[in-house]
Amino acid sequence: MKKYAVLGYPVTHSLSPLIHTPAFAYLKINAEYTKIEIHPQEFRRTVSLLKEENWHGFNVTIPFKQEVIQYLDFIDPAAEKIGAVNTISIDENNKWTGYNTDAQGFLRPLLESGADPESCLLLGAGGAARAVSFGLAEQFNLLKMTIVNRSADKAEKLAAELKKYYDADFSVSTVENIKLLNTRFDLIVNTTSLGMGRLKGKYLLSPASAAGENCIVYDLIYNPQTTKFLQLAEEQKLRTINGLPMFIHQAALSFQIWTGQEFPAAVTADLSKTILRH
Ligand code: NAP
Repeated sequence: MKKYAVLGYPVTHSLSPLIHTPAFAYLKINAEYTKIEIHPQEFRRTVSLLKEENWHGFNVTIPFKQEVIQYLDFIDPAAEKIGAVNTISIDENNKWTGYNTDAQGFLRPLLESGADPESCLLLGAGGAARAVSFGLAEQFNLLKMTIVNRSADKAEKLAAELKKYYDADFSVSTVENIKLLNTRFDLIVNTTSLGMGRLKGKYLLSPASAAGENCIVYDLIYNPQTTKFLQLAEEQKLRTINGLPMFIHQAALSFQIWTGQEFPAAVTADLSKTILRH
């Protein structure tokens, strides 16, 4: 039997098994997908133990997406640029290769919507923001990206890294300045954790204060399906995208990396309902 797992802390809430387990079953692949919770102080030791065991692949989630890179044998160039890995594939020689499927997962619903943004307001500068910002800069002819984050130093660092690879105008701002300057964006993306769990109902900035004409407002959170941030956007009749299609698509891409097979469409059809029931 092939063995896969998601590594994270905390990880009990992870819904990834709900995606991979039915897909393995549907395609009659003899594999199991489990969750491994690792205390951050135990990460190095646990990775060495996992390397001694017979694993075939991992998903990596909060807070290890960046830290895990040092333990890989190979890294996909796109993941290296982003500086975060959410998928590891392990070959028959026990070599670990890291990938990032969050960026493509994020882009998928945006491309399907026909969007072609030239300006983006990025809320947040954590692991997901890295995948989102590099994905956007790679995919579109972006002229401008403004990053707003609680910790300004992290936003500055991300903007500096983006500038190394792309020509757009990457800058850092504050909520107050965005409101004051009345700048208008084609796309506003919430990549912060504000809006879910104990932070339900919270948001960094109301989309109305920065949305241009035809602006798309995108929230990476999928539980709740409509965060307060998206609700405010809907009230302004702005187009919105929640995090559910991204969540499903990033997982489907991991599945494809591990198995070499397309994620079964018949399983995808039922996923939204299954995920939202949890
Ligand atoms: P992360 O690396 O821990 O980053 C968290 C971000 O949220 C940082 O920008 C952080 O700001 C900000 N933040 C957290 N608490 C805050 C607060 N109380 N006030 C203001 N800002 C706060 O996490 P991540 O991996 O980027 O994930 C971020 C969100 O994206 C989560 O909700 C996650 O579920 C979601 N996500 C969804 C998908 C999907 O497939 N749909 C994939 C990945 C992530 P500081 O830098 O100041 O700490």
